Parts: sequence; structure tokens; C-alpha cells
Amino acid sequence: MSLREYRQKRRFNVSPEPKGKEQTTQRTKGKLAFVVQKHRATAVHYDLRLEWRRVMLSWAMPKGPSYDASIKRLAVQVEDHPIEYNKFEGIIPAGEYGGGTVMIWDRGTWTPETPDVDALLKRGELKFSLEGQKLRGSWVLVRTRGRPGDAKPVWLMIKHRDQWVSTQDITELAPRSVVTNRLLVEIARDEGGDMRKAADGDPPSELKKILEDPKLLTPARRGRAKAVWHSKRPVH
Ligand code: MN
Repeated sequence: MSLREYRQKRRFNVSPEPKGKEQTTQRTKGKLAFVVQKHRATAVHYDLRLEWRRVMLSWAMPKGPSYDASIKRLAVQVEDHPIEYNKFEGIIPAGEYGGGTVMIWDRGTWTPETPDVDALLKRGELKFSLEGQKLRGSWVLVRTRGRPGDAKPVWLMIKHRDQWVSTQDITELAPRSVVTNRLLVEIARDEGGDMRKAADGDPPSELKKILEDPKLLTPARRGRAKAVWHSKRPVH
């Protein structure tokens, strides 16, 4: 678990993303955090992050999680992120690694099915439960054998059958930030991002509702108390 790759990929004098502190002490009590960030970069995707050993283990999911237990969602493991990243909602400048709009789509705590997470990760079968605002219940991440040439480990995220299963699409049903209630387009508007690019990551049905009733648009947050880690205004 190291932040070296995370830091190598980013220029912290240009991007507002957190550099992350060196974590030397192991936290032994308290719950483990999870976050899912919706990220409109080259393509829209969801980043699942699970706290473990003072970093956020991270998977990029093209479609995000599904409550339908018959659906397996692709989750490509990416570099560990700092725990401070859980508070990041804003704009990564165009041209930078992951350039685009980031939303805190869900957050809460997670519990591994058995305490030896290192063994579960090694085995490639991580069973866990989520207590978020959108994601609840029991899930599994299963590592696939992947294909030759895959640069990163490929996992599948699958819902276990429990009382939370549903065929409704949570990404369509609940597309807004759990911290600021904003859509991607509203984050881009407030923080100097590319609104057109951000908007095509929002569900068209949600944008249509706003066009029909502009009162539904979340008021611009400029000048308000900052609830989350906001981007710096970009320099043009
Ligand atoms: Mn991402």
C-alpha cells in the first residue's frame, strides 16, 4: 500500500487534488471509510475506494455498482489513493491526469466479511458490506484471470442476494452528490469546469427535468461556506 504511483501521476501545483500525508501510525479502532466518486474524465466512470492500511484501495468502474445480483460490474484496480481524497469534489484541470469533473457520489463505511483483508485481497475474493447513503448491504469483489496484456488487475463487483437487491438502476435513480446535492454539470458550473463535457455524464432525464423547471437547478455555491474540498479557480 503506497501512494508513490498516485503522486507520480499528478502535478499538485496544477491539480487541486490532495497530495496525501504520509501515514505512519496504523489506526486500530473505528470504522473503515468508503467513497464512490463519479468522475467525468475521458469517459464517465465511478471510482470505488475502500480504506485499508491508511490508504484508499481504488477500482475504476465504467458503469458503477448495480443492486441487481445477476449483474457483474467491471472494476479495474487502479493506484491507491490518499484518505484525504474522500473529500475531493471539484475539477481536475484539463490536460492533467484524470482531467474533468469529480463528484462524491456516495460515502460511508465498509466492513470486510472477515478481518484478514490482506488474505482476501491476495485470494482475489473480497466479501464486504457497505453502509453508505446509496450503497448498502453485502457485496463481493472477485478478481478475474484477466487477459494477457491487461495492465491492471481486473475485478468484478457483484451484489449478494440480501434485502437490498433491486433491479432499479441506482446510478440513474440517484445521480447527485451526497455532499452538495449537485449534478456533474452544477459542479462544473460552480468551479470553472467544462459544463458541456460534465453534463453528458449526468442522466439526460435529470437534465430534461431542469430544462422544464429551472427552479430545480441547485443554486450556485460561489461565495458560500465550503462544505467540501473545492477546486481552486483555474487560471486562464
Ligand atoms: Mn477516476
